Amino acid sequence: MSQLLDFDPELLRKYDVRGPRYTSYPTAPQFSEALGEAEYREVARRAAETDLPLSLYVHVPFCRTVCFYCGCNKVITANYRRATDYLDRLAREMAMQGALVGAREVTQLHFGGGTPTYLNDADLRRVMDDLRRHFNLVESTSREFSIEIDPRTAGPDKIRLLAALGFNRMSLGVQDFDPDVQRAVNRVQSVAQTAAALEAGRDAGFGSTNVDLIYGLPRQTVDTFARTLDTVVEMRPERLAVYSYAHLPQMFKVQRQIDEAALPGAEQKLALLELTINRLSEAGYVYIGMDHFALPDDELAVAQREGSLQRNFQGYSTQAELDLVALGVSGIGLVGDTYAQNARVLDDYARRIDAGRLAIVKGVSLNADDKLRRDLIQSLMCQGRIDRLRLQARHAIRFDDYFADALERLEPMVDDGLLTVGGDAIEVTPRGRLFLRNIAMSFDAYLQPADPGRYSRAI
Ligand code: SF4
Repeated sequence: MSQLLDFDPELLRKYDVRGPRYTSYPTAPQFSEALGEAEYREVARRAAETDLPLSLYVHVPFCRTVCFYCGCNKVITANYRRATDYLDRLAREMAMQGALVGAREVTQLHFGGGTPTYLNDADLRRVMDDLRRHFNLVESTSREFSIEIDPRTAGPDKIRLLAALGFNRMSLGVQDFDPDVQRAVNRVQSVAQTAAALEAGRDAGFGSTNVDLIYGLPRQTVDTFARTLDTVVEMRPERLAVYSYAHLPQMFKVQRQIDEAALPGAEQKLALLELTINRLSEAGYVYIGMDHFALPDDELAVAQREGSLQRNFQGYSTQAELDLVALGVSGIGLVGDTYAQNARVLDDYARRIDAGRLAIVKGVSLNADDKLRRDLIQSLMCQGRIDRLRLQARHAIRFDDYFADALERLEPMVDDGLLTVGGDAIEVTPRGRLFLRNIAMSFDAYLQPADPGRYSRAI
């Protein structure tokens, strides 16, 4: 896919609709209780017969304080005992899942949250020991072991410990450095704390480091966000994710604490996005897709140029999508062609594990149509291209007949120059790169227009 990006405010206004981010297909709302523990166990047993590498996700839900914009599955508590109890159950879950998947090599590991660095040093050691006891974690340099870091809870000592425990990728939560914005979202974090975390990571040998920012937060203006971008660019993280704030107070109660009158309007958000794209491009970052930027020599940017970029639950990756075993409350795994999600509420998770059961409560097994559409959406998101001939050969379909409806839905986007439809392939243009999810939605067999509150907007 071309690494060029055209910003067209008219088109952004026109295509600013709510839609999924497609970290999975079908998306999570399609998961059902028809897929439970018994079905998952059977799928995992069959998958254990392969020797393909494996990915692990560990969810640590705890945070000390709440950020008002948060849409994550988290538990706000100062009672550390809750974390200790959770780790006991996590170890039991690891034993059950580890016995199911066998000796497959774990080449990818991701700790997310919540705040993984809520855990104290002894407990971080303990979780990694437990993982190594129950899974075959590879120690080679090709491993991708990543962790989300809150610089408010992770000083240089903790970051050195994480490196010693095997982590080699990190993502720093920042969002915005402006003090007014920070107060308005209840996340006060100094530039010095963030810079110290980044520097400690570099010294300790972490490879690519990502910084997360959000535009569209209360009290944000083009001037304040320009200063935040300049500060971050000076720190030179290899990767940046700049998300649009999705204000969905019906879905996320904590967002009701945000003063709606202080939120930037649609036109201001557009200006913030334009600013972001311009500043990051001037600073040498390339746009990877779906809010992600990287330095040109970062392996994500290289993979994008070479057409080998991949996408999974954690976003973009250089490794092909692996079977993923999810551990902890709300985790979503993918084994074979089956997605499985753990209980989303901590008490439900605890009850299941205490009863000696896996915490899986719902999921979905992909049918042939799901696999075809997942394959198509994956290439669209990663390569900006839908290769008709490849899909026809791989899925035994006649592309134009099978997707006649979708092709009709694409016509206005073709007219607007977002993509070109050729005999061999459909290609996203530099104008269309900000609209990957709009294009993908044309191929989504489940999307219900009657459910606007569930998804965030494109901008
Ligand atoms: S944004 Fe992160 S640190 Fe803040 S409350 Fe949510 S999960 Fe916790």
